[in-house]
Amino acid sequence: MKTRYIFITGGVVSSLGKGVTAASIGTILESCGFKVSLSKFDPYLNVDPGTMSPYQHGEVYVTADGAETDLDMGHYERFVRFRASRRNNHTAGQIYERVIQKERKGRYLGGTVQVIPHVTDEIKQAMHASAEGMDVAIIEIGGTVGDIESLPFVETIRQMKIELGHHAAFVHLTLLPVIHGSGEMKTKPTQHSVKELRSIGIQPDFLLCRASRRLPAAERRKIALFTNVDESAIITVTDVDNVYEIPLMLEEQSMHHLLQEKLNITTARTPDLSDWKKLVRAGDHCDKEVNVAMVGKYTDLVDSYKSVNEALVHAGWKNNLQVNINHVDSERLESDEGLAALLACDAILIPGGFGTRGIEGKITAVRHARENQTPYFGICLGMQVAVIEFARHVAGLAGANSTEFSKNPPHPVVAMMSEWQDGQSGRLETRTSQGDMGASMRLGEQGCRLQKDSLAYRMYQRDVIRERHRHRYEINSHYTNQLMEAGLDVTGLSTAGELVEIVEIKRHPWFVACQFHPEFSSTVRKSHPLFQGFVRAAHQHRMTKERATAEPHAQH
Ligand code: GLN
Repeated sequence: MKTRYIFITGGVVSSLGKGVTAASIGTILESCGFKVSLSKFDPYLNVDPGTMSPYQHGEVYVTADGAETDLDMGHYERFVRFRASRRNNHTAGQIYERVIQKERKGRYLGGTVQVIPHVTDEIKQAMHASAEGMDVAIIEIGGTVGDIESLPFVETIRQMKIELGHHAAFVHLTLLPVIHGSGEMKTKPTQHSVKELRSIGIQPDFLLCRASRRLPAAERRKIALFTNVDESAIITVTDVDNVYEIPLMLEEQSMHHLLQEKLNITTARTPDLSDWKKLVRAGDHCDKEVNVAMVGKYTDLVDSYKSVNEALVHAGWKNNLQVNINHVDSERLESDEGLAALLACDAILIPGGFGTRGIEGKITAVRHARENQTPYFGICLGMQVAVIEFARHVAGLAGANSTEFSKNPPHPVVAMMSEWQDGQSGRLETRTSQGDMGASMRLGEQGCRLQKDSLAYRMYQRDVIRERHRHRYEINSHYTNQLMEAGLDVTGLSTAGELVEIVEIKRHPWFVACQFHPEFSSTVRKSHPLFQGFVRAAHQHRMTKERATAEPHAQH
């Protein structure tokens, strides 16, 4: 089948959930049996999304091939079976950089280099490459229609529609606000947003309207009239607690059918979403719950740990557990006030992170978990602080630290490989010789060999696993023996280079910390084994605590 293209734009306001909507369209089409890819084109000028603050922008998501991408790529992979790669996420900065590089190399033969056609051609090329071998390629344009930055992208999809004809469709996501007090649903912003889109040459085929309730018939007619969109192609996406419900909502409004019609797919198929329904509704029936303390820095923007949050939810569904996440600000743990939050939880998780702020609080959290037999899951930075804590308080290496947080620690148990390999303790520049930020990071999927009699092995049931990385610092192998003698188990080593990938503590019910990011490969259909083991351990710990508080009464 010739590849069909679905272009998704957004209007009215930002943060409407275009990524989730794109992923949901992908889900219904995939369940019809089509091979689907999802890509995102971001209008911002950053060349490297990896250097963007998660506090402003949400998590940096890492693909298997090591691209640092927008967090929407995470939605794509959690919803749809396709594996994203660097082909699927482009920023305007990367596109412009390529155009300028070509100009520098004289590839435009002295012609005037312009947004149209040079930039738009470059975008087109990237869009086609992202769609290679697919039945349906869904392409999301970041930003809001009307932004100056997104114009070259919108112009490109306008041109592509002319070339693709009936093999392309435009989906526009908008908002139907409700006026507080009168309860009236307002269609004007949607009308204006479509007007804006039409003024740059795009007539949407579908309107997906975010709303607090279903769109009344009269309003639907009105929108159709003003926007030239078929009434049946105006679809409501009502607010939900569980975003995985959205594909079901689209199916119910026959979007799969309408899309196939629009895209001229003659052998129309119906989706089979029965497995999806079962998976995502499992959460409605959980009769047990656990409270997990997630100790981090960006606690006011929970999107900065999006994939970890989702991986916990998936693992909960699979184990009949509702997982409540309590975000604990690590800085508050540097004084005693934050400790109560930890005591109230059934398990502690420390996710990835960068920089010195809040580190001592994280070390306090690990210490609490280790000493009180509370299940602990450390991810990337969460493993590094676990090793530092163990070195300081168990192995007797006073002042142990990572060279990321301390210039010249007496025991650099975590350091950059180049630092500990040549025995020099001087902090290295984390830039390449050209001074580019973002280099020198270990990125993407790499192999790890598991030790047979370990918790990790019990959960994975595999000798060799492959997981995604995103970090600069490593456990200093000069200290591994000393740490192991003191009781830290190294249960996973990288297949290339024997770097420490997983540590555990045997005399503890569940203490696992890994250098990689398992959260990036947890999906609705395939909950991650480590997250599953962790939430089960959390539940067990909760039961033990409950028994301990119940027993004294039982004796009386
Ligand atoms: N800051 C640490 C490093 O660079 C950990 C990174 C992370 O947690 N992703 O190694």
